[in-house]
Amino acid sequence: MAGADTDLIAGLDPDQLAAVRAPRGPVCVLAGAGTGKTRTIVSRIAHLIGSGHVSAGQVLAVTFTARAAGEMRTRLRAMGVPGAQARTFHSAALRQLRYFWPRVVGDAQWDLVETKLKLVGQAAHRAGTGTEREALRDLASEIEWAKASLIAPEDYPAAAARARRDTPAAPELVAKVYAGYEALKNAARQLDFDDLLLHTAAALEEHSEVAEEFRDRYRSFVVDEYQDVTPLQQRVLDAWLGRRDDLTVVGDANQTIYSFAGASPRPLLDFTRRFPEAAVIRLERDYRSTPEVVSLANRVISAARDRPAGSRLRLIGQRPAGPEPRFAEYDDEPAEATAVAARVKELVEAGTPLSEIAVLYRVNAQSEVYEQALTELEIPYLVRGGERFFARQEIRQAVAALRTAAINAPEGDLPTVVRAALGPVGLTEEPPAGGSARERWGSLLALVELAEELAAALPDADLPRYVAELDQRAQAQHPPTVEGVTLASLHAAKGLEWDAVFLVGLVDGTLPIQHADGDDAAIEEERRLLYVGVTRAREHLSLSWALARTEGGKRYRRRSRFLYGLIPENHPVARVAASRQREMPKQAMARGMNPVRYCRVCGDKLVGTMPVKLGRCEDCPSDLDEGLLEKLREWRMERSRGLRVPAYVIFTDATLLAIAEQRPADRAALVAISGVGASKLDRFGAEVLAIVAA
Ligand code: ATP
Ligand code: MG
Repeated sequence: MAGADTDLIAGLDPDQLAAVRAPRGPVCVLAGAGTGKTRTIVSRIAHLIGSGHVSAGQVLAVTFTARAAGEMRTRLRAMGVPGAQARTFHSAALRQLRYFWPRVVGDAQWDLVETKLKLVGQAAHRAGTGTEREALRDLASEIEWAKASLIAPEDYPAAAARARRDTPAAPELVAKVYAGYEALKNAARQLDFDDLLLHTAAALEEHSEVAEEFRDRYRSFVVDEYQDVTPLQQRVLDAWLGRRDDLTVVGDANQTIYSFAGASPRPLLDFTRRFPEAAVIRLERDYRSTPEVVSLANRVISAARDRPAGSRLRLIGQRPAGPEPRFAEYDDEPAEATAVAARVKELVEAGTPLSEIAVLYRVNAQSEVYEQALTELEIPYLVRGGERFFARQEIRQAVAALRTAAINAPEGDLPTVVRAALGPVGLTEEPPAGGSARERWGSLLALVELAEELAAALPDADLPRYVAELDQRAQAQHPPTVEGVTLASLHAAKGLEWDAVFLVGLVDGTLPIQHADGDDAAIEEERRLLYVGVTRAREHLSLSWALARTEGGKRYRRRSRFLYGLIPENHPVARVAASRQREMPKQAMARGMNPVRYCRVCGDKLVGTMPVKLGRCEDCPSDLDEGLLEKLREWRMERSRGLRVPAYVIFTDATLLAIAEQRPADRAALVAISGVGASKLDRFGAEVLAIVAA
C-alpha cells in the first residue's frame, strides 16, 4: 500500500499533506479559492482507505452539486478507490430513505413532487393570495428557505422578521400558503427535495435501530463547500454522525453564495468551538490561477465589508505569470456578446479546448444573447443549469435505441457499436450546421466518448454493460462531458475551473442584482459572487459590461459598482462603439487586423467572409482539385476525432476549400491563406503541406 500512498500524495504541498495525514477525527480546512481544498479531501479519503483506517464502503463524501459529486467520484476512481461514495446531500438522503422507508413508514414509497408550483398554486388559491407564475415562484423559494432553515409554518412570521426577510407576501399569508402546501403534499403522499433531508434526519433521530445500522455502515464523513451548509443539511449531518467525530470539512467563507437560501458559513467558522480538538489547516497557495488573476481576486474580496474572523486569507499565486485580466465596455448587449464570441473563437484557434472556456453570468436569462452570438460563429456550447443531460429528448431516444440494440448483443468494439446504434437517432459523421441540431449532435457524441472511456477502463465491456453504466449515471445525475463552451450562472460555477473565463453583463442592477439594493448583507453576497467568478479562471479572464440592453438602445446602465477600484489607473478599458464594431467582418475582428484582401483571379478588392477565405470572388473561376479536397477532409476528420474537437475547429470548410484550390507549396503560402494562423501553422502545417505535395 505504501507505493499507492506515495502516488496519491505526490504533488501535494506540506499544508495539504497535513490535512491528508491528520488522524481520523475532526479536521477543518479553511482556505481560499483554488488552494486545492477539493484535491486535498479526495486525497485524504484515498489516504484513509489506503492506510487501512476505514474501508472504501464506510466513507461518505458530500458536496453541493451533482457535477461536483461526479467530479469527486471520477478523481477517486482515478486514485484507485472506486468504492467510496461521493454524493450531494440530496442524493445521499434519497438513497438512504429508499432503504429505510419500509421500516420507518411501512407502506409503499412516496413519490417525489413533480409539479411543485402547481401545489403551491393550489395552496395560494386557498389562502386567497395571487397565483401568477412569478408570485408562485417567489412563494416556493420562500418555503424552501423556511424548510432549509428548519422553520415550521407557524414559526415563519416571527422567523422572517428576525431574519429581516423581504417576504413575497404578508408573513401570515406566506405561513398559510406554506402550511397549505405541506398539507396538500402529504395528502398526495409526495415528498419535495427538502423532505428527503427532513425524513432522513428524522429516521435516524427517532429510530435507534435504523441509526445503529446506518452508523455501523458509515464511519467517516467528508463535506466539501461547507460554507454553504443549511441548518437542515447540518441536522442531517449531525444525525449521520451521532456522537462520533470522524468528520472532515473544507470551505471558504468568502465563497458563501447561498445565504439567500438559508446557508450559513457559521458551522465552518465555528467548527473548533464544536470540536476543540479539531485539526485546523489553512491553505494560502493558489494553484489554480495566474498571479494576475489571483491579484484581482484578492482585490475583489479585500473590499468586502465585515469579513468574519477566519475568512481573512490572502491568496498567493503559484502559477507562472499570464495575461492581465481584460476589462471592456460595450454600447449594448449584442455587441458585448458578439465580441465575447469572437474572442472565444480566437482562443479556440490558438489551441484552448472548447471545454476549457466558460461564459458566466448572474441570471440564467442572460444566456440567450450569448447562445445566439456563439451559434453565429458556429461555436458549440452547453448551457449549465439548463435541461439536465439525461432528461434531454435526444438522450432519452438514444438510451432507448441502445437498450434495444443491447438485446441482440452486437459484436465489435464498444465505441463502434454505440456509434452505429446512434446513427438512426441523428449521430451523423460530420456535425450539422449549427443551432439546436448541433447541440443535439454534441450530446450524442458525448455518449460515444463515454463508450470510449468505458472501453479504455474495462476492455471487455459490452453494450449491456455500457447501458447499465448509463442507467447508473442517470440515477446519480452524472452526465458525460459534452465538448463545448460552458454557459453558466455564477452560482452554478462554484467549485469549477476553466482556462478562460468571461464574466459578462457586469452592470449595476445585474451584479449586484437589483433586489439586493438597500440590504448590505445581500450586497456583500453579490460581491462574493464576483469573487467566485474571478477565481474560476486559470489563465484568461475577461470582465465586460454593456450600457444598453438592446442594439442601439438607450445607454442608461452603469458598470457594476464592484468594478471601481479594480481597474488599474493605467488600464485601457476597451471602449468599443457598437456601430464601428458591426461594420467590421467578424473574422477580421476576431483577429484584430485589417481585413482588406484582393482576389487572386481578377485582383478586385474582396468583400465578405467567404471571398476573403477563398482568396477569390465567389463568381471568379475556381481551380479546385477535388481529390485533394477529399483527402484534406479525411485528414481533418481523423484529426478532429483524435483531438475531440469539432472538425471546423481544425479548419473550416472555406479554409479547406482555399487550400485545395491554392495548393500552397510551403509554409509562407499556407499561412497566407485566411483561416491559417501562426498556431495552426505550427500544429498542422507540416501535415497539410505533405498532403498537398502528395
Ligand atoms: P474552490 O474553492 O474553487 O473549490 P479548491 O480549493 O477546491 O477551489 P481545487 O479545485 O482542489 O481547489 O484545486 C484547484 C486547482 O489547483 C486544481 O486544478 C488542482 O488540481 C490544482 N492543485 C491543487 N493543489 C495542487 C498542488 N499541490 N500542486 C499543483 N496543483 C494543485
Ligand atoms: Mg473545491
